[in-house]
Amino acid sequence: MDLTDRLSKSRFVAGLQCPLRLYLSVHRRDLATPPPPALQARFAVGNRVGALAQARYPGGVLVAEDHFRQREAVATTRRLMAEGVRDIFEAAFTYDDIKVRVDVLHKLEDGGWELIEVKSTTRYDAAKHQPDVGVQTYVLRGAGVDVRRVTLMHLDTGYVYPGGEYDPHPILAATDVTADAFAYAETVAPLVAEMMRVLALPRPPEIACGRQCTTPYECEFAAWCTRDASDGDQSDVPVRVDSSALRRLERAPHPLFFADFETINPALPLFPGTSPYQVIPVQWSLHRLDADGTLTHNEGLFATPGEDPSEAFLTSLLDALGDTGTFVHYSSYELTRLVELGVRFPHLRERLLATLPGLYDRLGGKLLDRGEQLDLPRPEGGLSLLDLGRDVVKPACDHPAFGGGKWSIKIAVRLLAPDLPAYSSLAVSDGAEAMLAIEELLSPETPAERAEAVREALLGYCRQDTLAMVEIYRTLAGHLA
Ligand code: SF4
Repeated sequence: MDLTDRLSKSRFVAGLQCPLRLYLSVHRRDLATPPPPALQARFAVGNRVGALAQARYPGGVLVAEDHFRQREAVATTRRLMAEGVRDIFEAAFTYDDIKVRVDVLHKLEDGGWELIEVKSTTRYDAAKHQPDVGVQTYVLRGAGVDVRRVTLMHLDTGYVYPGGEYDPHPILAATDVTADAFAYAETVAPLVAEMMRVLALPRPPEIACGRQCTTPYECEFAAWCTRDASDGDQSDVPVRVDSSALRRLERAPHPLFFADFETINPALPLFPGTSPYQVIPVQWSLHRLDADGTLTHNEGLFATPGEDPSEAFLTSLLDALGDTGTFVHYSSYELTRLVELGVRFPHLRERLLATLPGLYDRLGGKLLDRGEQLDLPRPEGGLSLLDLGRDVVKPACDHPAFGGGKWSIKIAVRLLAPDLPAYSSLAVSDGAEAMLAIEELLSPETPAERAEAVREALLGYCRQDTLAMVEIYRTLAGHLA
């Protein structure tokens, strides 16, 4: 492997984040953790968005040689440019030891070329994307290409999917990032020189773990770099509970409805009337705790291929909630989803607000943002709202694991409901896995037997979340006595 085989756009970006990440990605790739399923799914979405971008340029020609055949790919790119091909996909260039592939290289009417980078994101994020387009600009200009415009093409969240085949024009938005790309290109040469120096070191540079391990990207070497660190669990340290901060629990009227939702937010909308990355609630779990200690459970999961679950989700949840008591949630996530549903379904607003009048101002504000009015009187009665995380665990519980303003349910369960089965023992063990499982259920290609197993796993996961809230509540309520 000679030096020109060592730097690519992605390695350059890795090197910006951390010299050790760059070094390992070239010399010790075997130490990387394989991409988790959620990341693989993101790659797959990126490929689909890339294909949509290519569809905007009929007559475009793909440089078919893969990344291992960079020299041939560069030659093919040069030939296509010389032949007058106006749109080249995966155009290949090498300059100053850096290899790049340009998603779309588009010939401009008045001369010169447009470099188009395609992302499955919703907007241009300079922290992430400027180095990406900047290093490509540096390489292309160094290779003698007359780059005059640089564009980041991304999904347009304002697009409303009408159903059927995706139309590649309205679903994608183009942001002109020429100025940022050109400015960054001016800074690349010394960065490359430093990266080549790091790559030539006889052993990995010594770098301590820190913020760079997760920002702007999760580093694939994190498990290796932290292999000797203690897990910092500190579960044996008792939680100090300030019972004076538990008044919200005392004031919460029974029955208590502990609620948790699972959702998807597909980059490419699955249902007519929805937009890229719109959050679609699919599943709810509800544990009801009565004043006499009786605990009952109810749940709903609406994941039929081709059917938007949103309305059935809301109506079934409202059916399951009574008209008195307390709606207990563990963050604002559930309330945000309910407000969005209230916006989407005007005919259900009155019923939603009669059940959860605490949403009145939020829903009114959300509608105002859209230039609409909430034409309903403020209802009386209904359920109170209680955020078990923000209003109870956060002010009342003191433990090192809650440091830094964290009060996540996963930490709270470990400390306050340790007898519950570990999440890692569940077939679906976190929100990212739940999203993938729901998308599997929504795929018409999932065999019935597999769908049934996935369904059971999802129900078990969501049920565990609400049972965890019940146990956290019981533990803390014990401090009131
Ligand atoms: S885990 Fe952190 S220190 Fe280790 S290579 Fe990655 S970014 Fe660098």
